[in-house]
Amino acid sequence: MAKRVYLFNEGSKDDRDLLGGKGANLCEMTSLGLPVPYGFIITTPTCREFFEAGNKLPPLLEQEYRVALDLVEKKMGARFGDPENPLLFSVRSGAPVSMPGMMNTILNLGLNDEIAEGLAKKTGNPRFAYDCYRRFIQMFADVVLEADGDRFEHEIEQYKAAHGKRDDVDMTAEDWQEIIRIYKTLVEFPEDPFVQLKLAVEAVFLSWHTPRAYVYREMNNIPETLGTAVNVQAMVFGNFGDTSGSGVAFTRNPSNGDHDFFGEFLFNAAGEDVVAGIRTPLPVAALKDRLPEVYDELFRTQILLEKHYRDMQDLEFTVQEGKLYMLQTRSGKRTGRASVKIAVDMVREGLISESEALMRVSPEHVESFLHPMVDPTQKTEIVATGLPASPGGATGRVVFSAEEAVEVAATGASVILVRRETTPEDIHGMKVAAGILTELGGMTSHAAVVARGMGVCAITGCGSLSINYAEGTATTADGVVMRRGDIITLDGTAGEVMLGDVPKTEASSSEDFQILLSWADQHRRLKVRANAETPEDAAKARELGAEGIGLCRTEHMFFDAERIDQMRGMILAENRDERQRYLQQLLKYQEEDMLALFRVMDGLPVTVRLLDPPLHEFLPHDEADMVALAGRIGKPVEKIREMTESLKEVNPMLGFRGCRLSIVYPEITEMQVKAIISAAVRAIEEGLKPLPEIMIPLVVNVREIRLISEIIDRGIQAVMKEKHVSVPYKIGTMMETPRATLGADRLAPEVEFMSFGTNDLTQMTYGFSRDDVGKFLPMYLEKKLVESDPFVSLDQRAVGRLLEIAVQESRARKPGIKYGICGEHGGDPRSIQFFHDLGLDYVSCSPFRVPVARIAAAQAKVRRETESRRS
Ligand code: PEP
Ligand code: MG
Repeated sequence: MAKRVYLFNEGSKDDRDLLGGKGANLCEMTSLGLPVPYGFIITTPTCREFFEAGNKLPPLLEQEYRVALDLVEKKMGARFGDPENPLLFSVRSGAPVSMPGMMNTILNLGLNDEIAEGLAKKTGNPRFAYDCYRRFIQMFADVVLEADGDRFEHEIEQYKAAHGKRDDVDMTAEDWQEIIRIYKTLVEFPEDPFVQLKLAVEAVFLSWHTPRAYVYREMNNIPETLGTAVNVQAMVFGNFGDTSGSGVAFTRNPSNGDHDFFGEFLFNAAGEDVVAGIRTPLPVAALKDRLPEVYDELFRTQILLEKHYRDMQDLEFTVQEGKLYMLQTRSGKRTGRASVKIAVDMVREGLISESEALMRVSPEHVESFLHPMVDPTQKTEIVATGLPASPGGATGRVVFSAEEAVEVAATGASVILVRRETTPEDIHGMKVAAGILTELGGMTSHAAVVARGMGVCAITGCGSLSINYAEGTATTADGVVMRRGDIITLDGTAGEVMLGDVPKTEASSSEDFQILLSWADQHRRLKVRANAETPEDAAKARELGAEGIGLCRTEHMFFDAERIDQMRGMILAENRDERQRYLQQLLKYQEEDMLALFRVMDGLPVTVRLLDPPLHEFLPHDEADMVALAGRIGKPVEKIREMTESLKEVNPMLGFRGCRLSIVYPEITEMQVKAIISAAVRAIEEGLKPLPEIMIPLVVNVREIRLISEIIDRGIQAVMKEKHVSVPYKIGTMMETPRATLGADRLAPEVEFMSFGTNDLTQMTYGFSRDDVGKFLPMYLEKKLVESDPFVSLDQRAVGRLLEIAVQESRARKPGIKYGICGEHGGDPRSIQFFHDLGLDYVSCSPFRVPVARIAAAQAKVRRETESRRS
């Protein structure tokens, strides 16, 4: 039988899967000789056993943990359930992957009437003992007995009002005893400590299935099957008096990455008071004056832990009567900016290697360098100030609950979630909010930690706000009222609240960010290009590191007010001559546009796709527009109506589009090719190095490619002959239909590159319309009928399989052929790993995703290298 219970000296940090992250780190700290209150861990496989047995603990488990408990008693010099010398436990969850605040915790476990009295005697501090006891009943009732938690708070409020008490500190031992008596009328509370322990272990396992934990796992791609361990640890008390307290600290600043020991401490408070954000804590440096020895020990400990783990740590500690206890260490959550700074600094400090630094940055976090910030020159009056919990700027409508946030965000509006404090129950609202503002809580409160983790702008501890949920108002100290639905702006970097929509500047880069990106470039094999049509987008893409254009959708160049009529005239032309006239006009536009792109992308490849969309997309659809167009191009409106009608399709996405247009209207293709090559000739004459690549979309077979390649070649030869200039060029195809991928071996000899259009390929593999998927996909995701949106993250099982077949079978037929990705998946980190593994040559994505893709491509390679070294 596998061992189900481990003492703190029986594991190490490498046992995360078995003991959960928290448990593994408690073991590691114990073996480092740090002051950790002793305890034991019930393993994660036990949690799975529990679920498999229909939520029943294995029969022998209690026997096993009682043995461990005996040893904990010996070490702590106190006994569980002994009124003379009581030992109390905290019982906490701890999954292999950190899920902060998502599961249940029970503190002060092991108290009953008799033991509470014993504790009062032993400590000589009855107020403390009965405060612990009432907290325990409250927590136990809430978590284990699933009683209404608000009811308990309500009883305290009522009692205080009736007895003229304002705060908890006004409550005496007798007051708490009275509260306990009231509590006991509300719930069936088990007096036997061993029954309490067993119920608490079950409750922690069951909390794996709470809705908030479920949402969190979904957001963070944590497998449902993992389960949680249970940490049973001897209690130490931060609420013992003035030389006690609880704190949370980071070994570096989690907001900006500065190498400062950074944290918060509350005197005479339990750990949950700090995290809950109920009182606003002091900076950890406050310990320096009041408990200098504790501060020194804590300072040395944080240095030791950071060096040991070689990463920024998030610490929880308690001081009981002037003695420091370490309760937790884990890798600290941080903002995007901080993660880059810390990674780069740690390489400079010789703590980690460049490739490790690359793995420390989440590709999503990179985006925070690209996010908008409130423009400092445009700031309006600051109506309230709080803590700068998570940077960036955000504007949106004020909402006061998570539900409202979801509702308003669903209409497409940006929302700012305003709360007194947030709890894990609010996670679904925080997920959709553009910004979060809370009245209470410090930099390590739930709102702050979660917002930073999500990269969402947040301000916490905005104490001057007075929030009235019932009325839907937040009133500042100066009487400014922000009502539900009002537009406000948050500056999460400065912690400032402003009314209205305050302009934001484009996100700025940093030297560290550039260094990290340069390491990414040295460590990646996949090239990164951008999908862009305009010179501005192309310039932005190049600035962000794009190594060419992977997809220029030429149709986007014709939607301009002035050009669209030429396009429409061309489509509505009744004979070849008329069509040619319009095409001549379009050629001029196209040539200028291409020249502009070649200038920006000098020396880098520019893949230009031939016209792709169904032609009716260019035509007006309502009567007034048709009449206006008729006037402008001198055609009877009936003709326009007739043509629009005749171009209508039942399934336009499967209709007359892509290379099918080139087959029916070769003159359009000829015009496009001539424009591209003429522009390249002019670029060469300007001394530039254009590298055009012409791409044929939506093919299904090799005959289409042959026919269209002939048209392309003819056009190219005509221009080169006329201008006496030779242009280097390539002809390739998009792989967007399942048939094309399955016949890739036959297409390969005809082309020099294949670019997978994974948007259409996903659409056609699933038979899910790209344009209509919004109507049912949310339900598919909710019901887990698909793992994730296949238009965001490549479905490796089906679409990925098609890619594999295409590459395997075509590579042999044409050595040296290049493979790229130009669908949306080209900027998705998970898909990028797959493309790397498949040995593709490049991905192409929107300009702002380019840095994300550069990092993700480097990580893909480093990940595989690390794995192969390990095996
Ligand atoms: C694709 O289908 O993946 C693609 C890039 O083309 P578009 O999105 O323009 O259809
Ligand atoms: Mg496509």
